[in-house]
Amino acid sequence: METELYTLDDTETDDAVFARAAALLRAGELVAFPTETVYGLGASALDADAARRIYEAKGRPSDNPLIVHIADPAEADAVAYVPYAYRRLAARFMPGPLTVIMPKRACIPDGVTGGLDTVAVRCPSHPAARRLIETAELPIAAPSANRSGSPSPTTAQHVLRDLGGRIRMILDGGPCEIGLESTVIRLTESGCEILRPGAVTERMLADVLGEVTVARAVTDPGAAGEHPQSPGMKYKHYAPAAQVVLIDAVPTLFTEYVRAVIRPGEAVAVPDDEAALYDGCSVLSLGQTHSAAEASHALFSLLREADIRGYSRLYIALPPPTGEYLALYNRLIRAAGGRVVRLNPQP
Ligand code: AMP
Ligand code: MG
Repeated sequence: METELYTLDDTETDDAVFARAAALLRAGELVAFPTETVYGLGASALDADAARRIYEAKGRPSDNPLIVHIADPAEADAVAYVPYAYRRLAARFMPGPLTVIMPKRACIPDGVTGGLDTVAVRCPSHPAARRLIETAELPIAAPSANRSGSPSPTTAQHVLRDLGGRIRMILDGGPCEIGLESTVIRLTESGCEILRPGAVTERMLADVLGEVTVARAVTDPGAAGEHPQSPGMKYKHYAPAAQVVLIDAVPTLFTEYVRAVIRPGEAVAVPDDEAALYDGCSVLSLGQTHSAAEASHALFSLLREADIRGYSRLYIALPPPTGEYLALYNRLIRAAGGRVVRLNPQP
């Protein structure tokens, strides 16, 4: 199939593009669109056949459920049985990069939730995402718009490379602002558990809800096991073809180690202001300066770039598994298949 690619430019020509994209979604077809986190691969969340097309296009295991996107936080009531805690979270964080798992209503087919009786709901803040959902007048089921197992797409070109010829349309809204997927939480009678860390942190959630727990699989990929709370936890994720070598070391030790072991055809990923320490080496950018937000924004693009340039290995410093670095830690540890070179003294 031919994949139509449209660049959104905030002029009247966008009107026709959104109308066409909405018509495709209403007809059960797939449309990729930008969000503030990563690009999503959208289909009607009310149509089991459309959901099946998502799994086919991505090559995604069909027991890994999709996130249902809505244009207004109040629309959650149409797809889920909504606890009070959702409304408190919505008032603070929505629209935004937070996904909440709640008991599902019957209008959401089992094919969207991988057979679970819960549904994951998110209201994105990206204006193009919200306009698409509004125009289609549908809740939109959307996983990240990559082939299953490869890093999530943060530009329309990433989507085209992975899914060109497999989906009907891509809306290009430029690079995604955040660059890592949304925080996924589960609300239960007893509280709130983070299943996937993102830009809405444990601390921010605890500010609203009091106590919040973090699932063990967030920091320990092996812990997902046979019965993960979130099916996505058990799949290999975010992995480029290059071997990601994560190094737990203070900055001076990291530099010394990398300079000693790096070979031609291998690269190191560091913030731009540290690049000068690696003259003669291949360097990929983790943002202009050392910050969680910049590194998050850069990571998936960088992993794809490493493959395009054909590096066999990529050295990256392991961030702390806390605060705003937790999401980065979680993606990196999966990209590295759980292996870490530990140079710091262990407690
Ligand atoms: P993606 O669609 O690539 O952004 O990934 C969505 C993540 O949310 C995956 O890890 C899913 O397993 C998880 N997820 C979606 N719906 C549910 C649900 N009902 N229960 C638990 N996890 C879910
Ligand atoms: Mg994904």
